[in-house]
Amino acid sequence: PIYLDNHATTKVDPRVVETMLPYFTEKYGNAASRNHAFGWVAEEGVEQARQQIAEALNADAKEIVFTSGATESNNLALKGVVEMYREKGDHIIISSTEHRSVLDTAKTLETKRGVKVTYLPVDKYGMVSPDDVRAAITDKTVLISVMLANNEIGTINPVADIGKVAKEKGILFHCDATQGVGKIPVDVQAMGIDLLSCTAHKIYGPKGIGALYVRKKGPRVRLAPIIDGGGHERGMRSGTLAVPLIVGFGTAVTLCRQEMPVESVRLAALRDRLQTTITTALEEVYLNGHPTQRLPHNLNLSFAYVEGESLLMGMKEIALSSGSACTSATLEPSYVLKALGVGAELAHSSIRFGIGRFNTEEEIDYTAKRMIETVTKLREMSPLYEM
Ligand code: PLP
Repeated sequence: PIYLDNHATTKVDPRVVETMLPYFTEKYGNAASRNHAFGWVAEEGVEQARQQIAEALNADAKEIVFTSGATESNNLALKGVVEMYREKGDHIIISSTEHRSVLDTAKTLETKRGVKVTYLPVDKYGMVSPDDVRAAITDKTVLISVMLANNEIGTINPVADIGKVAKEKGILFHCDATQGVGKIPVDVQAMGIDLLSCTAHKIYGPKGIGALYVRKKGPRVRLAPIIDGGGHERGMRSGTLAVPLIVGFGTAVTLCRQEMPVESVRLAALRDRLQTTITTALEEVYLNGHPTQRLPHNLNLSFAYVEGESLLMGMKEIALSSGSACTSATLEPSYVLKALGVGAELAHSSIRFGIGRFNTEEEIDYTAKRMIETVTKLREMSPLYEM
């Protein structure tokens, strides 16, 4: 089988596993135990990882809060800010192509807490306009949340420009950078980001561990916790730290940083090879997302006259995602493609390729060949398609 679903999750890099193992077997202390060496050793592992993650974001280690993943980070950012800044206002701005963990959190705040939510449109490439952000701001706005890169189409938003608008207006800016961290350069200072979500399992680290960057200087961001307890993570996220996962997260981030210059070029070349081979052989194949401002390892294509689901059925040895599979059993077309203005038919015929560290050129060539065969076969059977 070939794994090309690296936006969903990634294989843990063996070098990451290696650094985690001692924290299961020998260094199993509680990082909050201050009275003995078991605790100190665990704490040392955590603090090193915190430093590694901070460095990758151009942040300070004290600004990193560990969570169970980006879903929790997004929940904490939105709910934590809304709760803490109630007096200031009750309006937040998000983009309409955010991940469900942002969209649904906003929806909950809207329906259960009476928060006003502006859902920003995107252009035909899935990009948010900084001018739209500016126009949506009111004197009651407490938070802007726009993702760095989209998980379906890979489009990269003009985050630094949005950060500028936020700073100018004195409004907090949260960025879900889950798909961008480790893949493209991220700098919370240069991008004017006050809160940033990320997760280990998209960058060859373990599942179940993520982080929220929370700015400490100029302005210091305050958050109401959503989990109460022992006061870990400066009171923002209680619960015993998952030391082995945190150590693995640190290693994963560091490996990505070291390999990014070479890796991003290699993956982009594989992506371009896949796209060119497919679009040269087949007509009526459409690119979803931005042609240049996109993640190096993402390719999202619509194959007219073919159902994405049928395509995947026809090539089960390759792990891919379709634009209608994401949202459960209903087979609703992707809301992201809908926001771009892609029609229901083409949205249903979309396939997302997520290329990763462990993919080879042979795998890409095999995938292109199978795509071409399968699409051709399905089109031959389609009453709508005329050769
Ligand atoms: N945000 C984005 C953009 C994602 O792609 C994902 C992953 O599906 C998440 C958030 C959720 O991350 P996690 O699985 O760590 O909760």
